[in-house]
Parts: sequence; C-alpha cells; structure tokens
Amino acid sequence: MNRIYLDHNATTAVDPAVLDAMLPFFSADFGNASSIHTFGQRARSAVETAREQVAALLNARPQEIVFTSGGTESDNHAIFGVVNAATASTKHVITSSVEHEAVLNTCQALEKQCIAVTYLPVKRDGLIELADLRNAIRPDTVLITVMHANNELGTIQSLSEIGRIAADADIYFHTDAVQSVGKIPVDVKSLQLDLLSLSGHKLYAPKGIGALFIKGGARVRQFLYGGHHQRGFRPGTENVAGIVGLGKAAELARISLESDAQRISILRDKLERGLLSRIPDSRANAAGAPRTPNTSNIIFPGIEGEALIIALDLKGLACSTGAACSSGAVEPSHVLTAIGLPASEARASIRFSLGRHTTAADIDPALEIIPAAVAQLRQLSPTYKKEAAARS
Ligand code: PLP
Repeated sequence: MNRIYLDHNATTAVDPAVLDAMLPFFSADFGNASSIHTFGQRARSAVETAREQVAALLNARPQEIVFTSGGTESDNHAIFGVVNAATASTKHVITSSVEHEAVLNTCQALEKQCIAVTYLPVKRDGLIELADLRNAIRPDTVLITVMHANNELGTIQSLSEIGRIAADADIYFHTDAVQSVGKIPVDVKSLQLDLLSLSGHKLYAPKGIGALFIKGGARVRQFLYGGHHQRGFRPGTENVAGIVGLGKAAELARISLESDAQRISILRDKLERGLLSRIPDSRANAAGAPRTPNTSNIIFPGIEGEALIIALDLKGLACSTGAACSSGAVEPSHVLTAIGLPASEARASIRFSLGRHTTAADIDPALEIIPAAVAQLRQLSPTYKKEAAARS
C-alpha cells in the first residue's frame, strides 16, 4: 500500500541530506566535542558550524544558540530560566491559552510555585487580542511567552506587534517557534525576541535535538546543572550527530523555505478546498487567520475524530486530531475549545499537515479517501443522519 503522510506537524522524516551529514559522526568522527585531541576537535568544529547554520536561519548570532534535546526542553529552559533569574519579590508571566503543553504545563508548574500566570484568550481565528495583552501587563510581569505558529491550526500570531509591546514595557519575550521555523521566515531581530524555541524533528532533522535562542545579555538562569558544555548554558555532552543534523536541516530550510512554502500552500489549498466542496457541512477552522502554508484543520460534523483517524489509517492515510488521551477518556483539544468550538465539534476536527515531500500524487487520492471515510462514518451516526434529514 502506498501510504500518504499528512501529519508533518507531528514529525517529519529526516531529510536524506541531513542523514548523510550526520552519518560520519556515528562512526569515523565519533569524538566528544569537549576533547582536545583531533577526534574531539573534529566534533567541536562540526558543532560550531551547526551553530552558525541555525543562527543564520534565525538572523541570530552563533553564540546566541544553545543546543537542547528538543522543543520541550527549550520551552522549559526559557520559561524557568527567565523567571528564576528575575529578582523581584512577586513575578508574573503572560502566555496564551493555545500554547503547546510544553509551555502550558511549564506555566502551571510556575503557578504551583506561587508565580502568577495570565492565560490570554484567543478569538475564533486563534489569535490573541493585542489589547488583552496590553491590559494583562503588570508591574511585576517578567515574561511574555506566546507561540509563533499553532501546532493544530497553523495560525500565526503577530509576533512583531507582541515584540513591540514587550520591548516598550521592558519585559522579556519568548516564543515557541517549533511549528514556524522552517515553514515561514523567522527573524529574531525584527520580531524583537529575547528567546525562541525550536525543534529538529519538525524540520527534517532527527527527534531529540532542538535549540534555544537566547539574546546576548539576557538574564536567563541555567536550567540543567553539570559540566561546562556550551559555555555552561546547557551542560551535557553534546549530541554531535543530532546537532550536525539540525545545522544541515537549518541550512536546507534557509535555501528552500520560500519555494517549499509556495508549493506546499498550493497543495494545502487544493486539499482544503477539495474536502470542503466534497464533504457536506464541513468547515475549516481558523482559515481566515494568517496560517503556516502546510496546515489545514477541518471539522467534519457527525464524526468522531479518533474513529476517522483509524478509518483513514486503514486506507493508508496518516493525519491527526488535537485530542489528548487522558485517563482513558479522549479530551477535546484545548486549542479548539479555546477558539470557541463546542466539545462535539472539537472532537470532529482533523488536522492535515503537509510537508516537503508531499506531492499532488498524495493530494489526489486523499480527496477520494477522506470524503468516502467521512460518508461511511456518518452512515453509522444516527444523530448526524437525523440532523441532516431535518435540515433537508
Ligand atoms: N511546541 C510545539 C508548538 C510543538 O508542536 C511541539 C511538538 O509537537 C513542542 C513544542 C515539543 O517539541 P519536542 O517534541 O521537540 O519536545
């Protein structure tokens, strides 16, 4: 069976050029980047080249890039690091209600330490209201952390305006850019960012590698304690192969970002329009907002998202819901409920996320498989049939 992968926001395949760049660092060039002999120096030089490649993608300076184990660690490091370095007697953090758990649960951990957190609501289009942000700022606000692109909807927050508000109020500004880096241009200077998190496996590098941009001079407390690796910013023997892979992936993204984005958005629009026209009552979530070129999130009333995912998987098509499975029950996505969807519609929503290797040969069959699977599941839904009959 020819499988169709429309779940690139979950993870991406390692690009063949990335794998090629990494392979020597598992064998001939296996040295520890802290060793002073030739093996070590080869590894060190590769790590520093990767730091330059990642910095170049973000318009940062190489010394502002710290390699981490991924997006989750970068988010934790940024948030705890800023809050723990602040010396005020009371501290307050502002975030949004649609963040990834890597930010939300970190903020909840702060609350357990008696640090106040404001979770900004979002509008139907998934974007925060800038007036809400301005109103939330307090004299003791030490950090604003608002994601760049949302993992479920693809919506892009207006970071340049948030950056301006943060800079005017002299508050540190962090963004979780895990879903934007590699998909849209990200410039830490023009966005006035102090910290930015990214993750390798969302941009064709391996899982378990990521980076945190920390603007030179920012006061950020160490997150992990250990040796003096990465100038003490992140102790632990460097994952040289992973770092080399992330560097290569950043270089590839810099070269192909614009053409990939153009090509992928045409395919995404074809998929979205095709599904909306073929499937009665379907609606795209947050489609009016600026979105990453690869993401489409669609409600198919009358179906359970999990059931559709399984039905599609049996037909060889991979996509996802934003639902989280907790204690055996499927909770509707916090992102979709935050944009105002009732639980039934949140549960009926599916995310399709395209990538560098998606072609029309994936989209054409998807436009046959998905409508057929939705129709089949709706046949099994007595409430949908009754509602549809009442409407007609
Ligand atoms: N932030 C966002 C927006 C994400 O989508 C993800 C992963 O899905 C993460 C953070 C976590 O990144 P990682 O898997 O590298 O820990």
